[in-house]
Amino acid sequence: MRFLITGGAGFLGVALANHLVATGHHVRVLDDLSAGDPSRLDGRVLFSRGDVRNVPVLWTHLQDVECVFHLAARVAVSESILYPQEYNDVNVGGTVALLAAMRDVGVPRVVLASSATVYGEQPSQPVHEGMRPNPGSPYAVTKIAAEHYLFTLSKLYGLQAVALRIFNAYGPGQRIPPAHAPVVPLFLKRALGGGSLVIHGSGRQSRDFIYIDDAVRGMAAASLTDAAVDQIINIGSGEETTLKDLVRRVTAVAGRELSVLTNDAQNGGVSRLVADLVKARQVLGFQPQINLSEGLKLLLEKDPQFDRKRVVI
Ligand code: NAD
Repeated sequence: MRFLITGGAGFLGVALANHLVATGHHVRVLDDLSAGDPSRLDGRVLFSRGDVRNVPVLWTHLQDVECVFHLAARVAVSESILYPQEYNDVNVGGTVALLAAMRDVGVPRVVLASSATVYGEQPSQPVHEGMRPNPGSPYAVTKIAAEHYLFTLSKLYGLQAVALRIFNAYGPGQRIPPAHAPVVPLFLKRALGGGSLVIHGSGRQSRDFIYIDDAVRGMAAASLTDAAVDQIINIGSGEETTLKDLVRRVTAVAGRELSVLTNDAQNGGVSRLVADLVKARQVLGFQPQINLSEGLKLLLEKDPQFDRKRVVI
């Protein structure tokens, strides 16, 4: 098939693009490089720099495309509290622009990278797709708004749409920006550097960490499975891990101790979050294959950021 991946130079996008070309598909990537790095893309992927909110640019890159993966977004919960307008512009505005351009060009199918953050605080775990969303941050609001635009406009324009609520993905290629860094690579870097780490809250808050190859398998399946159309589907590991447990596993893999300091809980986070995968199994035949300890070992082996000779804190 011929795919366009918006935000395809980012962490999930590069892995997805490289997987799709390796399995015989044609892939174009559109990314403004506000956070992405196209140098990690397979040479067979056609890369263009551009903003997903620019409809004429989209018209060009959507020609002959059969399915779009819409990943372009601003992605940090804590940063979204500081810059809600920018998050709304990119994450909601970009989704609306894309859907309008798909209508204009006649591209039939779209898979949205939505987020487990839309669930927010829930009365029970694991969370399933029938639960009422309870977004607790501007980022989560942009993702639930994007889902609503996705299904509303797809119905009006006759598009085939799938929304994937992706949980905490980690793996090789995930950037560690100086602020708002994702926890898995940050913890590993600190452990390897022999440094200390600040945990916000009690450390008993839990998340569902999914290894990138599993996430990519779920995303690829969603684009190729007709039964996924019009569906919202969780893509997670189904494993619940507290932050304290994550620290324990990271230090075991790194073979180094981490000194852990605690601070006040941050706004926008939730106390527990783990995926119910019944629907993903039924609709996509999705079954995660790599557990957290295995995934952390793979991350350490495969990601040059964690080369022991080069890691500095
Ligand atoms: P990422 O920041 O690595 O990738 C996002 C990409 O979008 C970046 O390459 C960035 O340059 C690009 N981008 C941002 N604004 C753009 C714009 N206006 N026009 C074009 N490109 C733009 O993040 P990621 O972790 O790879 O996330 C990809 C998608 O998956 C996002 O939509 C995110 O919300 C979603 N998601 C990710 C996770 C996760 O754990 N990584 C979990 C849930 C959902």
